[in-house]
Amino acid sequence: MKRLQNFQKVKSFFLQKLAEIGYDGAVGVAEFRKVYDELMPIQKDKLMDFCGGEFHSFLKDGSIICICIAYPEYAIDCINLRFEDGTIDKDSWNIYAKEYHKINKFLDVISEEIADFFGGIPVPATVEGIDVRNVEDYYGMTISHRVVAENAGLGWRGKNELVVNEKFSCAIRFASIIMSLPLIHGRRVESSCGECEACLEACPFLKNKDKLENYRENCRRYIVHLRLEAEVCGKCIKACFRNSIFSEKFKLR
Ligand code: SF4
Ligand code: SF4
Repeated sequence: MKRLQNFQKVKSFFLQKLAEIGYDGAVGVAEFRKVYDELMPIQKDKLMDFCGGEFHSFLKDGSIICICIAYPEYAIDCINLRFEDGTIDKDSWNIYAKEYHKINKFLDVISEEIADFFGGIPVPATVEGIDVRNVEDYYGMTISHRVVAENAGLGWRGKNELVVNEKFSCAIRFASIIMSLPLIHGRRVESSCGECEACLEACPFLKNKDKLENYRENCRRYIVHLRLEAEVCGKCIKACFRNSIFSEKFKLR
């Protein structure tokens, strides 16, 4: 009962913050141990770093809160627009890039506020401004919020490897907070992608991910080549939101 009450308090706090900024989102909680077990070894080490001397106590009875904020619909619709001659409308695509930065900042502030108020350790939305030569350089810099989100029940892992939320599609971004406060844990959601392949049709790297050595590196290089105002692409997000079997069901503000 206490766990549920604590979760309700965290949820109300988060929803209040979302109302203040005028965005939609969701919150869930994962069992610390399950997240730790599923992280790649280099990220297990990073999680230990975040926890410091409290690591073993978190491993025994800790939780990780996952918060997500959804992109506004107009930003998703700005992805990959083309002029009549086929060239990219970069100014429009940059509207999505700006939202990426904006949402990351909101997530970082709110995760710190939750950590301060309830007692916890915030894990920022992303790591930026680092010289990266290969996508694998990113792996040890933080922990996978997607693994936290899946274990918190915020969505299933889609064919585009993003977490698909039943309301917002994968048009969401995450931050996490490591907690010792007793909290009720979410349950994993079974994949519902079924026969849908909209994201695979939107991206040759995703479509061929089983044949490529590491499709994430192809993705990173494509993003670098785009030279937008953030390191983003988002075509696979737009495809899921607009063209998937759930496109009538998904809703963004
Ligand atoms: S972000 Fe772009 S390049 Fe990367 S997987 Fe998605 S659609 Fe493909
Ligand atoms: S576009 Fe379809 S296959 Fe891809 S993640 Fe979304 S629902 Fe799954």
